[in-house]
Amino acid sequence: METVSFLNLKKINEKYLTEMELAFKDVINSGWYILGKQVEEFEKDFANYCGTKHCISVANGLDALILIVKAFGFGVGDEIIVPANTYIASILAISANGATPVLVEPDINTYNIDPEKIKEKITSKTKAIMVVHLYGQAVEIKKINEIAKEYNLKVIEDSAQAHGAVYAGKRVGNLADASGFSFYPGKNLGALGDGGAVTTNDDDLAYKIKVLRNYGSEIKYKNMYKGFNSRLDELQAAFLKIKLKYLDEDNARRREIATYYRKNISNNTIILPQVKYEEGHVWHLFVIRTENRDKLQKYLQENKVQSLIHYPIAPHKQNAYKEWNSMSLPVTEKIHEQVLSLPISPVMEHSEAERVVELLNSYD
Ligand SMILES: *Cc1c(COP(=O)(O)O)cnc(C)c1O
Repeated sequence: METVSFLNLKKINEKYLTEMELAFKDVINSGWYILGKQVEEFEKDFANYCGTKHCISVANGLDALILIVKAFGFGVGDEIIVPANTYIASILAISANGATPVLVEPDINTYNIDPEKIKEKITSKTKAIMVVHLYGQAVEIKKINEIAKEYNLKVIEDSAQAHGAVYAGKRVGNLADASGFSFYPGKNLGALGDGGAVTTNDDDLAYKIKVLRNYGSEIKYKNMYKGFNSRLDELQAAFLKIKLKYLDEDNARRREIATYYRKNISNNTIILPQVKYEEGHVWHLFVIRTENRDKLQKYLQENKVQSLIHYPIAPHKQNAYKEWNSMSLPVTEKIHEQVLSLPISPVMEHSEAERVVELLNSYD
């Protein structure tokens, strides 16, 4: 029996081979490879898709978040609230600016930041709340925006795992003051290399990020700010423009698999993901929890089903954040001990999903 792969990137991108070959020729023939027509068009398309006024593409998702924090002017002495249960990039973006990340525990049901635990972490130094739509599920942004308004804070979305998710009629990326996206190959909208973007309705912020990503320069050789080199390639922009057209379709297929898993996995040692609003989840990952996670992973592996752990070590337990190692964050720690991600992707066959379900239902 063939292995059920966790994510078959080759199969995902093969679907677009013909269109991508044409785009590739187009870019070569243009003779222009950085900040040209392809980037401009993709930015326009992605802003339209998210429903925002602006999209500024950058080199990767981490840079998108770093540049948002930088452009808002947050740095040394400022505190930014961020979920303790996230991929470390969200937190690194704050540290990279010299600002202090303040960790907040997640809701055990959604794995996203618990809005009820934010207020107690706000001090006179707090400048912003960074939320993460983890595993593809939009956070409860309404409650968070209300808190931000009360305390005059900015809200930054880390949307790297949730391209296309909808919350109360609006897309992720258009739910707060600014949003960072990643187009890393494995994301719901993935390039054939690194890529990222910022979306926002804030004209000043958009302008600043546009300048900052290109050496702090708007007019060549005239430098307004101490900027960076963080640009999306023309070639990646051309590929992303193609794949964006199919994003809703791909997310719908992910949702079908998730629905099938949720309906059919029935094993009382396994906790299934909980969904607040169906359209608010684009299933970047399908994450279950179980007491003896390593045993379950081994069982799946022996039966030729790949699974992964997102994530094995909590950010506050990482060597990179030694200063936090003795901090106690029990909900985050429990999640890191118990989670396991099952295969899910737009190219997964129904027969593969069936096999995963059968295996899980006969596991004890
Ligand atoms: C992938 C990811 C990032 C970083 O994106 P890169 O493009 O790899 O830099 C940031 N935050 C989250 C939640 C992610 O999953």
